[in-house]
Amino acid sequence: MRRIAVLTSGGDSPGMNPFVRAVVRRALGYNMEIFGIEHGYQGLCDGNVIEMNARSVGGIIDRAGTILETARSEEFMTREGRRKALRTLNEHGIEGLVVLGGDGSLRGAMSLHEAGVKVIGAPGTIDNDMYGTEMTIGVDTALNVALNAIDMIRATASSHQRAFLIEVMGRHCGYLALMAGIASGAEMICIPEYPFELEDVARTLDEAYIRGKAHCIIVVAEGAPYNAHAIEQYLREHEDELGFEVRSTILGHIQRGGKPTAFERILATRMGCAAVDNLYQGNTGVMVGIQGHDIITTPIPDVVSHKKELDLSLYELARTLENPSTLLQQP
Ligand code: ADP
Repeated sequence: MRRIAVLTSGGDSPGMNPFVRAVVRRALGYNMEIFGIEHGYQGLCDGNVIEMNARSVGGIIDRAGTILETARSEEFMTREGRRKALRTLNEHGIEGLVVLGGDGSLRGAMSLHEAGVKVIGAPGTIDNDMYGTEMTIGVDTALNVALNAIDMIRATASSHQRAFLIEVMGRHCGYLALMAGIASGAEMICIPEYPFELEDVARTLDEAYIRGKAHCIIVVAEGAPYNAHAIEQYLREHEDELGFEVRSTILGHIQRGGKPTAFERILATRMGCAAVDNLYQGNTGVMVGIQGHDIITTPIPDVVSHKKELDLSLYELARTLENPSTLLQQP
């Protein structure tokens, strides 16, 4: 294989740049020509192809976002759009493609694989919701950004006897909220995978007040049954009975913009190299992932047809630490 390309697609995540850097330099190591496709699949439809060299990825290992930029493309979802994408690849003589993105992007990669393109996927999302890998590129940095923010909020909350609802990203998956909640020692964690009622949140505040806590931190995933705004409204209606003033903060896009952590850069570098190694060895239709300490591959159809389950034993663990008396009550 002499000529390959790389694109980043879907929601951006910190770690995309170190990934692109690794892909480019690994390909050059194999004496391949390496191209970048700008704006994800939309760029593939539009022919936004640029030749890359070792210098074009210099100085980006510590930068969030993606120098190739990313996009969501309606056009690529159509048959005509995919025909344009195939034509772009043919016109440039590109024989293999590396795609970094979330679940949707991997579905796009599967459609190219089915059309005969040699394609290797890599998991890029801050949600960590992809089957076939224990960690996705982006989640560790997003988690650390959320954690730093929560630590800062806790410091101010304690000074004013306040309860803070902190909403973190995760529309369908509570991974980020659960891990941020454990790591920050939150009093309660609200996630889509674990049902709760507004009264449960009020009870948590009440119990924290009775135990003499100076603050009460509740981490809420944006896709939880009630978001931070809805919970805040309810709690404010009952503020007189709770002992805490209630505030909420939505962390939002700062979670995507953090400087990639050491773990992130190393993961992205290993996955980027593995993606090129797989193309070089003639493999196609697989996604690279990490399991334990090892880089593995999983067929893309398996990735997109399975859901990664959140380890709810970690949720129980967090509860027993927040309120140790619940440990012996467990079945
Ligand atoms: P993410 O990759 O972060 O999950 P999206 O779900 O928005 O983000 O997917 C990114 C892009 O991948 C979409 O805009 C679309 O161009 C492409 N895509 C998603 N699903 C499919 C599909 N079933 N077939 C072909 N392309 C798809």
